[in-house]
Order: sequence, then C-alpha cells, then structure tokens
Amino acid sequence: MSKFCTAVNCMDGRVQIPVIRYLQERFGAEYVDTITEPGPNRILAEADDSEMVQSILRRVHISVEKHASLGIAVVGHYDCAGNPAPEEVQKMHLQKAVERLRKHFAQPVIGLWVDASWRVHEIEVGNKR
Ligand SMILES: [Zn+2]
Repeated sequence: MSKFCTAVNCMDGRVQIPVIRYLQERFGAEYVDTITEPGPNRILAEADDSEMVQSILRRVHISVEKHASLGIAVVGHYDCAGNPAPEEVQKMHLQKAVERLRKHFAQPVIGLWVDASWRVHEIEVGNKR
C-alpha cells in the first residue's frame, strides 16, 4: 500500500501545512509529495503546452511512478501573489486544472481552495471518475 499522495500547491508558505494535513487525511497518506509554483491553478488552467505545464506534469509523473501516489490535488488560495484573480475566477482555474490533470493521470484528482482563515475546502469538479 502506497503511503504517498501528491500536491500541486502554491509556493506560498501559508498554505503548505494546511494542505499537507488535509491530504494526509483525505487520501490516507503518510507523505505528501509537493510540487510548488506561484498560482499553479492558473498555470494549469491557462497555458496549454507551456514549459511550466510540462515541468509540473513531469514532477507529478515522478510522484505517480516512483511513489505510487494515491491521489493528486491542485490548490488555489486566498491572497495569492501568483494568481491575484478573485476567488470565483480562481475556482474556475481550479476546475480546468483538475480536468487537465485528469487527462494525464489515472489517480483521483481533486481541487482544493484555501480560504482567508487558511481552512481547506474541496471543490466540486464535474466529470468525476
Ligand atoms: Zn499563492
């Protein structure tokens, strides 16, 4: 049984621990492999074949292949320096980011919103497998 899951998280220090704790519980994982970029939800939502997207996908692939990751989360959060869009737009980015990751990986992929109190919420994304 794998003990790993994967977070595509923002680099923002305020969201690291809340996301890790949430995902340990959510996927029953001991360790959370973490890939960070500023505003990864926007990067994955907007740029089709950018180097940044490829770089993220390569890193998720390592977590999936080498650690048999149990599930993947992409994160957006309040007061993000990398993605200053309002919450509703960021949540649209999250939806698109989740859909993109689902095309590449068979694992469950979820979207997380971290609010102004640094609480983590799982968002609904259609086409759930
Ligand atoms: Zn951020």
